[in-house]
Amino acid sequence: MSLDTSTLYAVATMIAALLGMMLLFFGFQERIAALKWWGSAYLVGAASVAMWTFGAARFGDMFALALNAVGFLTCGMVWNASRLFHGRKPNYPGLVLGALAWVAAVMTLPPGTTAMRMTIGAAIVAVYAGLTATELWSERRRTLRKRWPSVAVPVLHGFVLMLPILLGDLLHPHDRAFDDSIWVTVFAVELVLYAVGTVFLIFMLVSERAVTVHKNAASVDPLTGMFNRRGFSEACSRVIEREAHAGRPVTALIFDIDHFKSINDRFGHPAGDEILKLFSAVVVNNLRISDLSGRIGGEEFAALLPCPLEEGVIVAERVREAFEASGIVCDEGPVDTTVSIGVAGGPAGTELEVLLAAADTALYQAKRGGRNRVEAAEELPLSLEHWRRKSAGSARPVSVVPRLA
Ligand code: GH3
Ligand code: MG
Ligand code: MG
Repeated sequence: MSLDTSTLYAVATMIAALLGMMLLFFGFQERIAALKWWGSAYLVGAASVAMWTFGAARFGDMFALALNAVGFLTCGMVWNASRLFHGRKPNYPGLVLGALAWVAAVMTLPPGTTAMRMTIGAAIVAVYAGLTATELWSERRRTLRKRWPSVAVPVLHGFVLMLPILLGDLLHPHDRAFDDSIWVTVFAVELVLYAVGTVFLIFMLVSERAVTVHKNAASVDPLTGMFNRRGFSEACSRVIEREAHAGRPVTALIFDIDHFKSINDRFGHPAGDEILKLFSAVVVNNLRISDLSGRIGGEEFAALLPCPLEEGVIVAERVREAFEASGIVCDEGPVDTTVSIGVAGGPAGTELEVLLAAADTALYQAKRGGRNRVEAAEELPLSLEHWRRKSAGSARPVSVVPRLA
């Protein structure tokens, strides 16, 4: 099979331009700056290859030098795209440094040192590819598991971007011999495959990112920024499992703001929302980094602490005191901010639902005992089924059976 190199390069250029436009379009539509940079890199790259193919021989060395510089600029653009993809700012000096280094090298090297120039060019591309790969590798979001292709691709991509420059140099009219080489065909085919492959991987990364964002949104309460019930129980299962392995006890806390309905009634719903945000801050500020907390209902919050019951009670008391001392004053007067808290501890591996059921029972006792207080559950329900049956029969669960811990 014989493939016409010029046709292949023309096709590669057109595909790169088309993909560039797609990336740009998608970047603008979804407002993803990284895709705009990536798309522009493709378009600029394609344009410079096209101009090279049609104009290099006609316009002379300075034109060729400028096109080469543009090629290095596209490497810098891809690197900056990967920076933006991970929430960093573009690095403008770094963007143009490669191109400037290339121009400086060509200006200072004596004519006829093609091999030297190619080595310098390859080194510049390698540096950009390395930077891009490092950027993607240092990705802190662990959910992006498919990291290796996103590292391999910039390396290959940088290599591929370099190919037209290298080949352009070799295909220069003075050196026709290389034109017949099988490598020219191989590189051209590779260029097409990688142009398409890269876009596929970019979209894969973007879609994975979107899934992560949606998954996080489904686990977080938008008002307080805490876990919602779903996020809380998912995070708790992981902690409970970890603590079970280590043989350490766990403690659950349930908080219910006192007379919250009357806060809403007296000061308005927006003021109620502010109190909820304040309370969430009080909870977070009084817990340790290893503790989990979430908003599990309207004015109900919960926490899971990897510690024994006694320590949990101390933490609960700290939260209660801090909330009471918040000293909130509205136009209508001071707002009573108090909370009742139920605490339940269990041996290593106790299920979250068992802990919450017992903490809920203790909370009920705190409410009945006059509110603004902490109550510890002395027992855990023997089985959740048992607890559910009982709680269905009374307004609040009161059933507790033999001590577990
Ligand atoms: P208790 O001391 O017995 O806990 O009384 P309470 O008034 O706090 O309890 P109740 O369950 O009667 O009322 C809870 C109120 O919380 C009712 C509901 O309107 C309010 N609420 C639930 N979600 C929100 C919210 O997102 N924002 C605001 N502002 N209020 C909320
Ligand atoms: Mg309530
Ligand atoms: Mg309440």
